[in-house]
Parts: sequence; structure tokens; C-alpha cells
Amino acid sequence: MMNCIFCKIVNKKINSDVVYKDEIFIAFKDINPMAPIHILIIPKKHIASINHLKEDDKELVGGLILTAQKIAEQVGIREKGYKLAFNVGRGAGQMIDHLHLHILGGWENKE
Ligand code: AMP
Ligand code: ZN
Repeated sequence: MMNCIFCKIVNKKINSDVVYKDEIFIAFKDINPMAPIHILIIPKKHIASINHLKEDDKELVGGLILTAQKIAEQVGIREKGYKLAFNVGRGAGQMIDHLHLHILGGWENKE
């Protein structure tokens, strides 16, 4: 996708702070973090949103969530806790039409 900013990150046309990559996914720090740790995981393949997933994408979606678990471990929040979020559509705040999973964490415990 020529004009997709996340495809440009995949193709290294735009710099990003990459924290993880494999053959299928790439994860990088969100440029405008909403939590002390805010990472986005995307499939390298362009899929516009959750609404655009097909039956054949089942494995990819499972892999995406397992990759989130792996990255949470890598950045030290697996045991403490983290949030995973997909924004789906403009009404829910999706601004970039390339599927991405937000990992949010790193807060101090407020007890
Ligand atoms: P969403 O609102 O769910 O579409 O999330 C898009 C996210 O991408 C936002 O949290 C932005 O801060 C983030 N973002 C936009 N451009 C970049 C970029 N070049 N590098 C890293 N994160 C970005
Ligand atoms: Zn894309």
C-alpha cells in the first residue's frame, strides 16, 4: 500500500523505534505514547483493520496476540500487567488503516 504509513515503516521508508521483528510481524514504539510503555505490533502484510480480516487470517491473529505476550516479556511487563487494544474504525479512534495492536503498560502500581 503506497500511502500507508505503517507499510512505509515495514519497508523502512520511515524510521521507527523497532523493538521486535520476525517474518510476519514488526513492533515499534508509538510516537505519541499514551502509557509509559506503548508499543504497536503490526503484521507486515497490509490489512486495513479487524473488520478486514478473513477466515485465512486466523493464524495471523493468533500469532499477533502471542507476539504481544512475547514483547511484554521482553520489555518486562508480562507479570506486572498490560493492556492490549485494537481500535476499529474512525468512531473508535482508528487513525491508521493498517491493523495494529496497541500494547500499553509500565504504570506504577497505585495501591
Ligand atoms: P490508532 O489511533 O489506533 O489508529 O493508532 C495509531 C497510533 O499510531 C497512534 O497511537 C499514533 O501515535 C501512532 N503513530 C502514528 N504515526 C506513527 C509513527 N510514524 N511511528 C510510531 N507510531 C505512530
Ligand atoms: Zn499498510
